[in-house]
Amino acid sequence: MNTPNTLNAPGHPTPRTIPAVPGSLRRLNRLAILQLLRTRGPISKAELAKLSAISPPTVSKVIDDLYANNLAEVVGTTTPSAAGGKPATLYRFHSSAVRIGAVLLSVDGVLAAICDGEGHLLLKAFQSFGAERAPRQVAATITSLLNDLLGELSLAPSRLMGIGVGIPGLTDSARGIVSFAPHLPGWQDVPLGHWLAEAFKVPVLLDNESHVQALAERYYGQGAGCDSLVCIETGIGLSAAFLLNGRLYRGASNTAGEIGHMTIQENGPRCDCGNHGCWELYASTTWLANQATQALQSGRPSSIRLQGEVKAQAEAVYAAALAGDALALELVEAHGRHFGVGVANLINVLNPKKIILQGESVAGGQPFLQVVRQTVRERTLKRPREVAEIVFSNLGDDAALIGSMSLVMEALFSESSYPVSRPAVRL
Ligand SMILES: [Zn+2]
Repeated sequence: MNTPNTLNAPGHPTPRTIPAVPGSLRRLNRLAILQLLRTRGPISKAELAKLSAISPPTVSKVIDDLYANNLAEVVGTTTPSAAGGKPATLYRFHSSAVRIGAVLLSVDGVLAAICDGEGHLLLKAFQSFGAERAPRQVAATITSLLNDLLGELSLAPSRLMGIGVGIPGLTDSARGIVSFAPHLPGWQDVPLGHWLAEAFKVPVLLDNESHVQALAERYYGQGAGCDSLVCIETGIGLSAAFLLNGRLYRGASNTAGEIGHMTIQENGPRCDCGNHGCWELYASTTWLANQATQALQSGRPSSIRLQGEVKAQAEAVYAAALAGDALALELVEAHGRHFGVGVANLINVLNPKKIILQGESVAGGQPFLQVVRQTVRERTLKRPREVAEIVFSNLGDDAALIGSMSLVMEALFSESSYPVSRPAVRL
């Protein structure tokens, strides 16, 4: 694409510009100033010029453009100096004026929200798929749900800076395509991004759900300001997203992050993937629930009351451990040691600054986390260990939805040409 992407929708007062032309000086100047407005604002034009090393006239031009497009706001003036200098206007990123659509597909239905640029969900709704999960019908469900939300907020679709979509499966994000969704029958090479872009006439960005959760951490969670982090989704299976040198690492064929299938026991039991001794056979909540079942069946005294699915059973064990139950503590500590072994491997290989744990094992609380940290201390090299911090996510149940809208933030604030230079998505 050789020209800036300008969306000039009917009824919209000013054309809105989405960053484009990867590598162009104009785009890089705009990006540098936008980043400073977000991270250092309120800030004056003079300070912006100093910090960015961009000439004052160019800074002024870029600020005027951002202001006209509702991406910069005025928040007062500097205090006049004792020497009598004129007060300067202060600007910052106008996050409260930004509107972004967020969509999260699941095997049961679609969760959607309209968000502002601070990651606040202004309005959220869920629509079940019922029996109909074919791609076109699901796209129609997403469209009508988003239109309902926009209607309730009295917003025109053109007011959206973009729409981000989290997918429970493999995506070809650069082309706006869902490559494969294992739990959605018939979902193979579905151009969902194109369909939604046609419906709303705004940029549509999609990515795998674990990738979007890493972006959520980067923009609104524990990963703020961190360029090297690993987000681990815990639960029945284990998966990860890697943000390395400030960018998501997807791998050569978009499958990076299948950490649950790292081998930690060469001759261990067989995993569904075909390998033996995979990490998730020992560190998933399934392992914890199975061990608890066996211990209780063998007659061990405990306050653990197992019922329901694996998730509920694991929650019961975590809760009993937090309440001081001896058996539960023993199980959670063993679970934490297994988990820590895999985390130690990741720390030695990737040297991340943060490891953020999301999902079901967050309920394990300090009894789980302390053992993970201790195991990592015992099994990692000194230099990577010194910088690696292991924490629980604090984004709660909306992490993936916030991650979906973060795709649009990433497009706005990232130097990468991904994902804004997608002609197929009609930016
Ligand atoms: Zn496996």
